[in-house]
Amino acid sequence: MKKLFISADIEGTCGITNWNETEKNHADWRYFADQMTREVAAACEGAHDSGFDQVLVKDAHDSARNIDPRGLPRYAQIIRGWGGHPYSMMLGLDGSFDGAVMTGYHNAAGRDTNPLAHTMTTQLTSLVINGELASELMLNAMIAAYEGVPVYAVTGDKGLCDWMQSKNPNTAVVPVNEGMGGAVRSIHPEEALRQIREIVREAVKRPKADCLFPLPKHFEVEFTHREHTKTRRSSFYPGIEVVNERTLRYRHDDYFEVLRMLHFCL
Ligand SMILES: [Zn+2]
Repeated sequence: MKKLFISADIEGTCGITNWNETEKNHADWRYFADQMTREVAAACEGAHDSGFDQVLVKDAHDSARNIDPRGLPRYAQIIRGWGGHPYSMMLGLDGSFDGAVMTGYHNAAGRDTNPLAHTMTTQLTSLVINGELASELMLNAMIAAYEGVPVYAVTGDKGLCDWMQSKNPNTAVVPVNEGMGGAVRSIHPEEALRQIREIVREAVKRPKADCLFPLPKHFEVEFTHREHTKTRRSSFYPGIEVVNERTLRYRHDDYFEVLRMLHFCL
């Protein structure tokens, strides 16, 4: 019995360009929610081709109610909504999983490779971990590493995929979009599905240890809010340091404590 965990976002779905396309109550959303569903299904099928017989999908965008479960294969289960757990977009992951895949992911706040780049909330101008701009992929790949689970593949914008390869070239990537300022050049939506299935099929055959994301021994986290009122409120979190009116710093050796802090302070 092999189990795959998929964390699915929408801002790195094939072709997506504008915030309207990410918003459930906007007319532009349906097409991209459907494409998100199809990309997740393609990742499921790729893993299934290589012997994974269970998949748990976390819908991890906004309301966490984007994926149409009818579009997923029968061996997949889905978590919809938010559990209030610091694992957030990785809710449901534990050490019993054999691997993880992230679909529809996007680059970090402060990066220009995706018009929809942000980290966890659009209310942060940057989140920096150990001197590096942190994306949701970075946060979540470290959650996987914390649980001893390899990240086999990532789909999303090219800038994010290039970053992933620079951190661990053994994690396969499917760059479906390339950002150009406010514009996006994308591959064909059907071609995205073909590539995701084929690349995930091969990626999950790799040795687990090769695909573990590097987990630092110490974390120094610095983040800047758009609104100083949020900074003031979060400055009361135990152990947090005020850098300036909009920037806070937190240091810890245990990644879960970093996640707990982010859970309350973003
Ligand atoms: Zn999202």
